Parts: sequence; structure tokens; C-alpha cells
Amino acid sequence: MKLTVLGSGSSVPHPARSSSGFWLESGGGNILLDCSASVPLRMAQEKLDWPNLDAIWISHFHLDHCAGLLPLLAGTKHVEAMKTRKKPLRIVGTNGLKKLLDEFSEVNNYRLLEQPFPVEVLEVEALEKFDILPGVEAVAMKTPHTDESHAIHLTDIGGKTLVYSADTGFHEAISVFANGVDLFILECTYVRNKPVKKHLELAEAIFLIRKANPKRAMLTHFYPEWDDVSFKEGIAKFDPRCEVIEATDGLTLEI
Ligand SMILES: [Zn+2]
Ligand SMILES: [Zn+2]
Repeated sequence: MKLTVLGSGSSVPHPARSSSGFWLESGGGNILLDCSASVPLRMAQEKLDWPNLDAIWISHFHLDHCAGLLPLLAGTKHVEAMKTRKKPLRIVGTNGLKKLLDEFSEVNNYRLLEQPFPVEVLEVEALEKFDILPGVEAVAMKTPHTDESHAIHLTDIGGKTLVYSADTGFHEAISVFANGVDLFILECTYVRNKPVKKHLELAEAIFLIRKANPKRAMLTHFYPEWDDVSFKEGIAKFDPRCEVIEATDGLTLEI
């Protein structure tokens, strides 16, 4: 698998960090993990093969994770590169995704789900295995963030594994979910003294990484307060027991 970070930021506008989006090239096709409003631009900037996007995972319905579905589907509806496309685009999430997409589609009669190619909308149940793409197995796990928020575990055709937490509060079960994965992508919205329960701060993120014992971990979803600290020095205060990578827009990783 190859991962490209499209957005390492949050909903707070930032000059260097777009909001959430990760492009994943897997043995089964191209998967987008979350789709913030900046994702269509960021896919083009990274020269990714966006007309051959196969599946989109939507972790939850905060706009910094799903608002890009509107401009993306408005574009794919009319763009020349998609007119001859026959293969389906699969949009996957949990309870409420169909309703959200129908509502997006009905706004101003945009009819975003009427595309030149089939659009499959899939609502999955937590902890039930499914193929997000042929040969790429996925499992979702409920996270304490919003009613519909879920993390996802992916196993590629070659056996490589990845967990993407998306936004989450502190929840030890996510360490079991991510146990031993090749890459654990974990949110770390705050540095310390977090003012809300529904996100993580650094000490909690490192605790979860230590328990999960992944091959590598990547922290993401940074609030602007991270601008005032050194990521390396922050990590060095703990002992995460594996490499912990700072997500930056445009970073690519072979998994
Ligand atoms: Zn978010
Ligand atoms: Zn959120």
C-alpha cells in the first residue's frame, strides 16, 4: 500500500495543513480515507489518479471529514475524464451516510448521486468484516467522538494492515483494534490540557500507541497550537516504542 497525506489539519483554517483526507493505493484499487472540502484540490496538487478513485471511507459527518463529497461529486458528474468511466465508485460509512448523501444531493437539486458511472453507498455495521474493495478487507469500530464516528481497520491483498482512527476521544479498545498493524494513523488534536473529551492529546495518543504496538504510527488532525511546539521534542518526552511520524500535507509512505 502507498499512503499520501492530503490533509493533516482539522476544521481550523491553517496555511500549511488542509483538513482531513488520506489517499491510499491498495492492491484492490484507490481508497480515500475521509473527504474534507480541500480534498479535490489536494488530490490534483499531488497529481493523484483521482478519475480512478474506487472507494471513499467517511469516518463521521463533521464537515472537515465529509464536506468534499459535494465539490468532488459535482466535478465527477461533468468532467471529461469520468464520462467513459464504467466502474463503480463506492462510498462507505456507517449509519446515516445514505441520508446525508441524499440530503447533499437534494440541495439546490444538484443530484450528486446521478453520475456517468454507478455510485454505491454502503452503510456497514461495527465489527462486521466487509470488503471495501475486492480483496481489501475492512472492519469498522465505534469511537467516542460523535454518534456515527468510527475507526477503520484495513487489510490489503498482500496482508499489510492499517488502522485510521479519524477523530476520537480516549478509548483503550482502539489499541486492541490496532494491535500490531503496519501503520496506525491516530488523531492527536491537542498537545496537552485538552479542553474537550472527544479528541486526544499527545500523552493519550502515545499511551494508545504503546498499547497497540504497531510497526509504525502517524499522528494527525493537528490544531494550530501544534505550531508552537517541536513534534520531535514532544514525542521524545515519551517512549512510544515505535517510530511516530508527524503527518504533513504531501507526505507519502510505503506500507
Ligand atoms: Zn475533524
Ligand atoms: Zn470530528
